[in-house]
Amino acid sequence: MAQTGTNLVAVAEFNVSVVLDAIRRHPTGVARGELAALTGLSGMTVSNVSRRLVEDGLVTETVMPASGRGKPPKILRLIPSGGFAVGVHIDPAVVTYVIVDLAGEVRDHIRTETPVVQDPGRVVGAMARTIEELIVSSGVERSKVLGVGIASPGPINAETGVVLNPPMLPDWHRVTLRDSLSAALRLPVVLEKDSTAAAIAERWFAGHDGARDFIFVYYGTGFATGIAIGGEVLRGVSSNAGDAGHITVDPNGPVCWCGRRGCVGNMAVPRALVERALERQVLSPGDVGRLDDVLDVGAAFGKLADAADAGNPAAIGIHAEAGRALARAVVVTANLLDVQQVVFGGPFWGRLAPVVLSVLPTAVSGDPALVLPHSIRFVESAVPVDVASVGAATLVLDQAFSPRPTTMLLASGK
Ligand SMILES: [Zn+2]
Repeated sequence: MAQTGTNLVAVAEFNVSVVLDAIRRHPTGVARGELAALTGLSGMTVSNVSRRLVEDGLVTETVMPASGRGKPPKILRLIPSGGFAVGVHIDPAVVTYVIVDLAGEVRDHIRTETPVVQDPGRVVGAMARTIEELIVSSGVERSKVLGVGIASPGPINAETGVVLNPPMLPDWHRVTLRDSLSAALRLPVVLEKDSTAAAIAERWFAGHDGARDFIFVYYGTGFATGIAIGGEVLRGVSSNAGDAGHITVDPNGPVCWCGRRGCVGNMAVPRALVERALERQVLSPGDVGRLDDVLDVGAAFGKLADAADAGNPAAIGIHAEAGRALARAVVVTANLLDVQQVVFGGPFWGRLAPVVLSVLPTAVSGDPALVLPHSIRFVESAVPVDVASVGAATLVLDQAFSPRPTTMLLASGK
């Protein structure tokens, strides 16, 4: 590495992230000596970084009462209220706002209907006002808010912070969300794809070892995956990695809008399940309402799940078919990435989970196309509620904490 000033600054920042991440993962505290062992940094570096974190009010240092001979160790602990981040998840039906502390705990949240974008300026203004309201209602000092993370359905342009033309948000076209919101709030704002934000939340909250290599199956209005390899969440060249929606899971299935048949993102999503429930008379047209209305589909999906929970065989059959379709997509992605763990989550996942988890593991392990010589664990997300909005908030914390050599693209909020 060239010894330029910029690189030295980057190394110093990297060390801070490494130490802070190690402290965060030990809520009951960790001694300086242990930190050196955990991070591989020298005792001197750990001392310098710790002093800075204490000065910044992010970490507290206490002397353990002496329990024998020798000098009592100093224990470093995170101060959860040392900083806060706002997370926003734009779902086709609902926008969820959360404010989390440094430990990632949700302090408050607000939900609103997803605005129709006729005038992007008004949408940004309304979002900024909701964020200010959330900060006030949470009782958090505004000066302690580090920034705002936004999780949006893809595709996005991470470089320019623009929500492109997500198929799930038909009236959102090239909205310059990040910079406009940053200017309105005078805070740093970062934009990420929802399924990537979910994978970041998973890495943040799950245990260190379990969360190094996994696929996050994000089950929302649409279907997407987030990917973590070697402890890093994979973004790709344009931050749009993980779109697995056009994996064929049934060559005789219905025609997808892409022209192929039986795409998982077309066959296993809530709308498709609701349509099947209508065809098989598990639900009546009165139960369903309008199929092109995301709120109606969400409500009907809930009614289908109620029927499955109550033991209706046709409803359970529809969930099981979705489970087998998801299994075929999981086999393709697990083969491709050689992961040991598949995590499930997202706004609609919870209602589908009981039946899917009863059929999917056997369907995956029994699939002749599965080439991996090791077993695969199937787990539910460590963040059961609001994984994308919490993930969006952890994007901001991740920026401050995580020992990643790559930097994220952040609007500066000037
Ligand atoms: Zn397709």
